[in-house]
Amino acid sequence: MKPCPKPNPIDRASIWTDLRESDATLTIFRWHAVTSWTWDAQDETCGICRKAFDGCCPDCKLPGDDCPLIWGACNHAFHLHCILKWVNSQTSQAHCPMCRRE
Ligand SMILES: [Zn+2]
Ligand SMILES: [Zn+2]
Ligand SMILES: [Zn+2]
Repeated sequence: MKPCPKPNPIDRASIWTDLRESDATLTIFRWHAVTSWTWDAQDETCGICRKAFDGCCPDCKLPGDDCPLIWGACNHAFHLHCILKWVNSQTSQAHCPMCRRE
C-alpha cells in the first residue's frame, strides 16, 4: 500500500544544499513537507531525535502541520525541525545524518 505519493523527484537531490539558502528554505520545505499521516517512509522514527513520525520533534508539543516531515534525496525522513538543527550544526556541506549522502 502506497497511499502517499512522495514529492516529485525533481530537485530532491539538491535539498541538502537548498536547506542552507534561507530564502529558499521555506519554499523547499513546504514543497517537501508531508501533510498526510499515511506516508510510506522506510523508518518509523526520525533518524535525528529518534522519535516516531506520528509524533513531533522534541521542540514541538503537537504533531501536525507545524512539525512536518521532509525527505532527503536518499529517502531518509526527518522532522523538519530536526534537520534544520542538524544542517545548522554542520560547518561544511550538509549531509544526510543517516547515510551521509548530500
Ligand atoms: Zn526528529
Ligand atoms: Zn517540530
Ligand atoms: Zn540518508
